[in-house]
Amino acid sequence: MTHDPPRIGELVAAEQRLEIWCENLRCSRPRPVMWSPQEAIERLGADTTYVQAGRRLYCPACRAAGYDTRVSVRASIEDFYDRLNREKLADYAEKYGQEAAVALERHWALGPMSSCAAGGPSSKSARGAKQVGDGDVKRGGSDASGPAGNRSAFE
Ligand SMILES: [Zn+2]
Repeated sequence: MTHDPPRIGELVAAEQRLEIWCENLRCSRPRPVMWSPQEAIERLGADTTYVQAGRRLYCPACRAAGYDTRVSVRASIEDFYDRLNREKLADYAEKYGQEAAVALERHWALGPMSSCAAGGPSSKSARGAKQVGDGDVKRGGSDASGPAGNRSAFE
């Protein structure tokens, strides 16, 4: 059974950003960086696999500190669930009406999904400070969302 490795170009259809992070435990900036699908394609090429993408990038903070860095990339899990929720809501709205969908979303906002639902149906930008899953990501201080710099460092 063969399975094609995922490629950067697939992010567009999946509506997922590219999540990039440094594997170095001593890294001074352990928070993942997000690139929009368009930005990821521009910088890495649509046909590039995630593994290749990770090899092409380096962590500027670690390189500056003299560490050999290993960078990992993946499609944003957060965006995956965000999209899943939007699809669920659309489905719900179709079956039970828009009002019911709004009520459902409000219900989600109270539960463990609150970081996804806060602020409305398409609140991509509502990235709360709270991130689930990885203990390391919690301690990032300043914001890490400035897409700038050269082609091979992830910023
Ligand atoms: Zn690093």
